[in-house]
Amino acid sequence: MADIRIARVGLHRFEEPCISGTRGSGTVFFSGCNLRCRFCQNYEISRDDKGIPVDGDTLLRLMQYLVDEGAHNINLVTPSNYTNVLIPVLERAKSLLKVPIVWNSSGYESVANLKKLEGYVDIYLPDFKYSDDDMAWRYSHAKGYRDVAAKAIGEMRRQQPADVFDDDGIMWRGVIVRHLVLPCGVENARGVSREIAAIDKSMYVSMMGQYFPTPAVADDPTLGRRLTEEEYDAAIDGFFEAGLTNGFSQSLDSATEEYVPDFDLGALESLIARLK
Ligand code: SF4
Repeated sequence: MADIRIARVGLHRFEEPCISGTRGSGTVFFSGCNLRCRFCQNYEISRDDKGIPVDGDTLLRLMQYLVDEGAHNINLVTPSNYTNVLIPVLERAKSLLKVPIVWNSSGYESVANLKKLEGYVDIYLPDFKYSDDDMAWRYSHAKGYRDVAAKAIGEMRRQQPADVFDDDGIMWRGVIVRHLVLPCGVENARGVSREIAAIDKSMYVSMMGQYFPTPAVADDPTLGRRLTEEEYDAAIDGFFEAGLTNGFSQSLDSATEEYVPDFDLGALESLIARLK
């Protein structure tokens, strides 16, 4: 029986430039996220566990397909719930695929879990969502998020202490930490920058301004609106004030549903059948 559920496989062009490159990042979206944030923009799969069960052989074929399509890397999105079953797949992928493996996670995972991935993951791409634990509880029901994420990202940095890019600016090893700035979330964002700087001031940080309210939070007094330019600018100021120097920012024009992947299970099923 398959232990893995996935909801989308495809080239994704809207990650950071060093991840998407010119040909796209080879994303595999796993069903169910261990955080289940109220405002999640991928809510269709993160909360509803919508997806198709696959075994390791099928997953490997899909990864090979992405590489054949030109993917710069294999980008495992919200994979943490599947760590144990993914290890043997990653073991086989290591000798088969000649591109980096990206672990694109919520940041809310244990050091013990991450230690299992040592030697299999080339690039860690975690979120650091909250420095404010009350916010973490209110929006994601995550206890002690700040401490858990700080320790997790510290472990990721231990495993990948250097950020390595090729001549085309594509990342091959390293860590990029993402923070989605929330409405009324400037102090939270500033705190996140300070937490990251305390781990490593040279860490790449992607300060994301693409928040938009999904139907689940459309009526929420705080989450029911987009970010303002002033809030985003203040979050960026916090990045510099914390002593961080390496990072990515966004135009707020990208705050649109257009950038949310389409989770078309019929298309995924057809692809799986075609690759058999
Ligand atoms: S961590 Fe990201 S993918 Fe997971 S529920 Fe929260 S916003 Fe969604």
